[in-house]
Amino acid sequence: MHRGPGESRHRAETKSGAHRTPPPPSVSFEFFPPKTAQAETQLWATISALAPLSPRFVSVTYGAGGSTREATFATVKRIFESTHLHPAAHLTCVGHSRAEIRELLERYWISGVRHIVALRGDPPAGSSEFQPHPGGFSYAAGLVAFIKSIADFEISVAAYPETHPQARSPEADLDNLKRKIDAGATRAITQYFFDNHLFLDFLDRAAKAGITAEIVPGILPVTNYAQTVKFSALCGTSIPSFLTELFDGLDQDQDTRKLVAAMVATEQCRALQAEGINAFHFYTLNRSDLILGICRRLGLKPAPLADLPGFKRALSADTPPLARDPKMPD
Ligand SMILES: Cc1cc2nc3c(=O)[nH]c(=O)nc-3n(C[C@H](O)[C@H](O)[C@H](O)COP(=O)(O)OP(=O)(O)OC[C@H]3O[C@@H](n4cnc5c(N)ncnc54)[C@H](O)[C@@H]3O)c2cc1C
Repeated sequence: MHRGPGESRHRAETKSGAHRTPPPPSVSFEFFPPKTAQAETQLWATISALAPLSPRFVSVTYGAGGSTREATFATVKRIFESTHLHPAAHLTCVGHSRAEIRELLERYWISGVRHIVALRGDPPAGSSEFQPHPGGFSYAAGLVAFIKSIADFEISVAAYPETHPQARSPEADLDNLKRKIDAGATRAITQYFFDNHLFLDFLDRAAKAGITAEIVPGILPVTNYAQTVKFSALCGTSIPSFLTELFDGLDQDQDTRKLVAAMVATEQCRALQAEGINAFHFYTLNRSDLILGICRRLGLKPAPLADLPGFKRALSADTPPLARDPKMPD
């Protein structure tokens, strides 16, 4: 959700000052490709459970170092073919020549997939610095332009309310986001954050920098606090003291951690809704229970299965692909 330059934030209040109920939010969900048969079962149970929320799109990550190229492709293709959902494939520059990226993009297009989340990517496990492939791309902006030159994909990119850790400055990072939008991306999805003020300030700065594309907040329900702290240190997300306080002493208490996680993420989204922001991208970690609860509190309930086109065919291995135009442009 994004405001144009100079627009004021619309608080969800009536003239009398009472809060009004916002309309149901628009949501999208991020999954990662499964590595084991058990994880695959878990993922498809999650997709089945979340599909009735009718997300705008669901995205599937691309493992660090390009390690899940085929698994990402297979998962995205299966979502496209066997559900009513609109899948988006994450794609990174790591370890790929332009020819390899072109080949993968053509496979997506021919399979009917029309949405790419274009990223520079993180280095493979064990390396600390991103090394561009000699025949590939150094930054996501180049990848975005390349994707657009191959076919008219919808493209989402990453944005960082707290600034990407390798950026020269917050301003340089915003310039980079603008380059990605100018190259053809229509949406930015943010790194997760816990302090809404940082996100709201980022929206203001982006608007001032002339960025008019939609910027969707990425929301992470924290089920594993210790792991979140480690990952946040790498990706530049700050951990507010209230979060540390809330999870203190819960290391061995998974049930309470889950309740706290749902509560924190719900409060975060409700506070954003009060600021007029009503689109959320959830990092699901391939689990549905918290997301279903959070979405319900935000006003979004699952649609009856009968109302979902094609969904009754979901998860059947012999489901034929939906008829969509598979042609590449001239
Ligand atoms: C929503 C989302 C989804 C993600 N999904 C994945 C995934 O599936 N797989 C994965 O491996 N990673 C993923 N990531 C992590 C992402 O790959 C890393 O954060 C990565 O380090 C940066 O990727 P980017 O696309 O933001 O890079 P870029 O936009 O290219 O920016 C990378 C850095 O380079 C700087 N920069 C850009 N251009 C220039 C220039 N010309 N000169 C100097 N500096 C420049 C930027 O300011 C930034 O610091 C995701 C992140 C987000 C927020």
